[in-house]
Amino acid sequence: MNVERRSVLIVGAGFAGAVYARCLAEADVRVHVIDKRSHIAGNAFDETGPDGIRVHRYGPHLFHTANERVLAWVQKYAHWTSFTHRVRAQLPSGVLTAMPINLDTINAVFGTAFSTSDQGKEHLKKIAIPVANPSNAAEYLGSRIGTLLTDLFFRPYTKKMWGVNLEDLSASVIKRIPLRTDQTDTYFPTSDTQIMPNLGYTSFFKNLLDHPLIKVSLDTSFDQAMLSDVRYCFASMPIDEFYNFREGELPYRSIRFHHRSVEIDKVEAPWSPFVLPYSVINYTDSSPYTRETAWHLMPNHLEHETYRRTFTREEPCDYRDNFMERYYPVKTADGLNEKIYRRYTCLSELDASRISFIGRCGTYQYLDMDQVINQSLTGAEKWLQANRC
Ligand SMILES: Cc1cc2nc3c(=O)[nH]c(=O)nc-3n(C[C@H](O)[C@H](O)[C@H](O)COP(=O)(O)OP(=O)(O)OC[C@H]3O[C@@H](n4cnc5c(N)ncnc54)[C@H](O)[C@@H]3O)c2cc1C
Repeated sequence: MNVERRSVLIVGAGFAGAVYARCLAEADVRVHVIDKRSHIAGNAFDETGPDGIRVHRYGPHLFHTANERVLAWVQKYAHWTSFTHRVRAQLPSGVLTAMPINLDTINAVFGTAFSTSDQGKEHLKKIAIPVANPSNAAEYLGSRIGTLLTDLFFRPYTKKMWGVNLEDLSASVIKRIPLRTDQTDTYFPTSDTQIMPNLGYTSFFKNLLDHPLIKVSLDTSFDQAMLSDVRYCFASMPIDEFYNFREGELPYRSIRFHHRSVEIDKVEAPWSPFVLPYSVINYTDSSPYTRETAWHLMPNHLEHETYRRTFTREEPCDYRDNFMERYYPVKTADGLNEKIYRRYTCLSELDASRISFIGRCGTYQYLDMDQVINQSLTGAEKWLQANRC
């Protein structure tokens, strides 16, 4: 495939690539976006399934942000609906409890009847095992919530999610999850704005890429020869793949999605009688599944009534066991993968005059959608200034 001469080549039509494309096009720069997949929107891709329900092909994507610039920007290209995402954890006993851990969780697990945050804090202080500088996720959790809550909520879950024991996982992975001692039961911080695109993410991406200076080629994999005649390249492809893995492989966890369609009157627990407002249930037991999504409970996802409901269970695995689908960079306690990544960044600095690596796989980081948008808005602005566009 020939890339448009002297245009900026963008590899990947996910959030990183699409935000760069839109910003550059609005500044009169011609861009050519390629994606190896047959659709736009990257991992945020959604589509309406046979049950008349919108399903996100690569797992539930809930948009939340505390960044006003990002919020204003996304609202220029689609209408969005406010929502509050709530998740429940199903314990091995079958009991459903708040997730992330809060005061109600503490009461449910310890049979207490605390009513104030101070009581919750005091209890956690009593059961915590202090560690001055936690060197892994197990030590970090033990020092915050003690052994029982760690083993119940995090031990089997971590093993299936990351394929490693808590002792071998970097504490930074777990630090992302809030631990609360009040009764707040929202999944995301209450300071975040939570919105979902009325017509779905794919429709939002269609609007983003709908510009006379943007050309999109799907089913098109990156090839080094494409760099010969382009003005510049922004690549959201895996950085190790670009350099032919010469510094070693950057591993990822992946997820196999198991979809099932159920007649409306046969929907079983925990959603039956399906008045529960929780669209996602996390499984803390040692089954292979980490969570399940009931798509009809997300705003605007029931497009037309077919009297059936779609559910999706997630089974984490190594990315080599899932067609090299890269979802979560693996951060081990020894920091080995980050060292490999740093070697790739040294290589990319030498190439900075012709290519920049962007997004989740370009920078080997887990990034939420709003973080990718923010980084891409800033990156595009900098490039435009440096190139006096
Ligand atoms: C299961 C899951 C759930 C998530 N849930 C949330 C959530 O609830 N809220 C939230 O904010 N974030 C969520 N995220 C994160 C969100 O998916 C990312 O922030 C976002 O997708 C990052 O965008 P990106 O453009 O960097 O990557 P991607 O969306 O992965 O896009 C990269 C694109 O590059 C293409 N590509 C790769 N290699 C090549 C190549 N060689 N040639 C051509 N094209 C190539 C890929 O096909 C892909 O389309 C979730 C992520 C996962 C995995």
